[in-house]
Order: sequence, then C-alpha cells, then structure tokens
Amino acid sequence: MRHTPAMESAVLAFMSAHEGPVGARAAARHLRERGFDVSESTVSRLLGDLDERALTQSLGKKGRILTEEGTRVAANQQLDSRRASYFADALDLRDVHDLIDHLIGRRGIEREAARAAALRARPEELTRLRAMVETDGEARWRERLAFHKTIGQASHNKQIQAITTTLFDERLDLLERLLIMIGIKQDALVRWDQEHRDIVASISDRDADGAERLMVVHLDGMIRETEHFANSGNAHVIHTLLAEIDLA
Ligand SMILES: [Zn+2]
Repeated sequence: MRHTPAMESAVLAFMSAHEGPVGARAAARHLRERGFDVSESTVSRLLGDLDERALTQSLGKKGRILTEEGTRVAANQQLDSRRASYFADALDLRDVHDLIDHLIGRRGIEREAARAAALRARPEELTRLRAMVETDGEARWRERLAFHKTIGQASHNKQIQAITTTLFDERLDLLERLLIMIGIKQDALVRWDQEHRDIVASISDRDADGAERLMVVHLDGMIRETEHFANSGNAHVIHTLLAEIDLA
C-alpha cells in the first residue's frame, strides 16, 4: 500500500508535537488512531521517504526526529489547515444573520473587485462580460450564477481573486440559487439583472468610481431584499436551504 499526503501530514504533525524521537511503531499506532488503515511496512516506507527528502533524520533504534526543514514544513501545514478551517467555518452559513453577514462581507470585497475590474479587465474579458449580461433563457440563469465570480477574476488583483475564488466555490452555487430565489419572491430579479448590465457598462467605460458605486447599490439591494424576505415569515425557508449546502 502506498502512503498518501494526508498520512504524511499526520505523521509530520505527530512528530512536531512529540517530545523526542518517534519510532515506526508509535507512528503506525498514531495513524491508526486517526483512522488510517496502514501496515507497518507502509509506515516504514513513508518514514524512509521523509528521510530521503531530508524532512526527518533517523537516530537508529531510538527512532526519528524532524529536521529543521521538516519542522518548517509541519508548521506550514498546520497553518494551512487552520486557514482552511477558518474559511470552512466562515462559509458554514446557518441562519439569516449568517447570510446577511456573508453579503456584507461580499459588499466590502466586491466593491473593490468592480473597481479593479474597471481598471484592469482585459479586452476579451470585457467582451465576455458584455455578452454574458445580454443573454436570455437558460444562459440568463448561468449569468446570474457566474456574474460575481467573473468580476472577481477580472479584477486581476491576487488578493481579491484569492478571496472571491473561495467565496464562489462551486459548493456555494446553492447559495447563489438561494439569493436568486429571494430575488424572484421579492420581485427584484429584473432590477438585479439591470444592475448587472449597468455594472458591466461602467467597467467597459473604465469608470472605476461608477462600477464601485453600482456594485455597492447592488449588494445593498440584495441585503435589503434578504432582510425583507426573512422578516415576512420566511426565515425557515432560508434555514432549510442553507442546511442543504454541504461544505464537507
Ligand atoms: Zn448580482
């Protein structure tokens, strides 16, 4: 059996938390406790592999310790996994308040995304955005789902792209559908479609102030309609749909 990156991370984390050298048997026991189905020989190969990559160093019969590089890699892996769980936690929306907070967070990011897109979007991206907002029928639905993600990508600001890529993860498509459903129930969808066209027109005109202002207006409207929808006795509809979004 071949070891996996998840097993490797678990061993590095175990060794970094452990005082003194770690033997192959202790490493195997730890992996099994963590739910990995591993044989002694798989663990030996994993440890040999870590030695070869100079992440661990053998002290003979006593076992192994992390090298300086191994300690650094283990610490980075822990930070990466903590960051991933912060994001997973932030995107685990449970009720109307979580949803409103999510939209408020988006308003902060997306106003800058619209501004940056007006300054930096490439000509072919402008062509695509203009084509997207002019669609009908089935393509109209795809545009509604993809519009905000596309603006994030067209910002060409690495920071904004990293955050928007996470906010518009495919697993959160259901959230966009929920917002569209709220738009339909609140009779706001036609207005939202027009706002998308106005934002694209500002971006095309390289009008950064206009694009930013219109994006704020658009998100303000979504926040307001979500609050109205929830306050008209529909909070349970939102809660039920949010529960269906699975980030695992
Ligand atoms: Zn929108």
